[in-house]
Amino acid sequence: MPAAFLGHGDPRNALSDNRYTRAWREFGASIPKPRAVVVVSAHWYVASTLVTAMPAPRTIHDFYGFPQALFDVRYPAPGSPEVAEEVAEVVKPRWVGLDHDGWGLDHGTWSLLVHVFPDADVPVIQLSVNALEGYDEHFDLGVRLAPLSERGVLVLGSGNVVHNLGLLDWGGGEGGSDWAVRFDEQCRDLMLEDPARVRDLVHHPDYHLAVPTPEHFLPLATIAGLAVATQSPASTLVDGYVGGSLSMASFKVG
Ligand code: ZN
Repeated sequence: MPAAFLGHGDPRNALSDNRYTRAWREFGASIPKPRAVVVVSAHWYVASTLVTAMPAPRTIHDFYGFPQALFDVRYPAPGSPEVAEEVAEVVKPRWVGLDHDGWGLDHGTWSLLVHVFPDADVPVIQLSVNALEGYDEHFDLGVRLAPLSERGVLVLGSGNVVHNLGLLDWGGGEGGSDWAVRFDEQCRDLMLEDPARVRDLVHHPDYHLAVPTPEHFLPLATIAGLAVATQSPASTLVDGYVGGSLSMASFKVG
C-alpha cells in the first residue's frame, strides 16, 4: 500500500475545491482501497504516543474563528479498535497507548480525508505526535509501521513542511518567502532522492524559521521512515505556498 505525507494547511481546505484538495482526491482515487488509514496528525500533539482505539471516533473542531460551516463538518468514518491494537503490537517494544475515549478525528485528519475518502467508508485511526520525542523517534515509528503498510493499511502524515503562522501574510499570495522556498526545496530533494537524509533538515540554516514548533514537521519524519523501511520511492503530489510562510508540499511514497 502506498503512503503519503499531506500538507493540510488552512482548515477551510475541507470545504474548498482547489489544486491542493484536487491532488488529495486524485491520490485517494488512485490507490487500492485500504482496509484502514492511520493518520499521524500534527494536531494531536501530546506528551505520549497514543492511537485512537474507539469504534466511532468523534469529529473534533480544534480551531476557532472560522466559518460556522466548518464547525458543521462531520466525518463519520468508523474507527478500528483492531487496527489500533495492531499498531500497538507492531511497534513493540516501543509503547503506544490505546486511547478509548479521549480524542477522535481532529482537523489534521478530517480536512484531508473529506477529500481523500469522501465516502468516509475507510476505518480511520489517529496516531499522536509525541511532544517528548524528536525527529529520530518519529522516523523510527515509521520504520516500525512498515509491516502494516504492507498489510493493506494506508499510513498518512498530516502536517506542513514549512509552518510559521507568526510570519503568515494572508494577502501574500501564492509565493513563498526566500527562506521558506530554500527549506521546502531542500526537503523535496531529500525526500525524493534519499529519504534517510530528510533528517539533515534539522541542521538547515532556515530550520528555525520553517519549523518554529515541531508538530507539523514530525509527521514527515514518520513517512520518511516508512519510505526507507519499504524501500519505496517518493514523488511530489502537489506543492506550493500560502501567505509566504506555509508550504503545501505533499509527497506520495510507493
Ligand atoms: Zn495544521
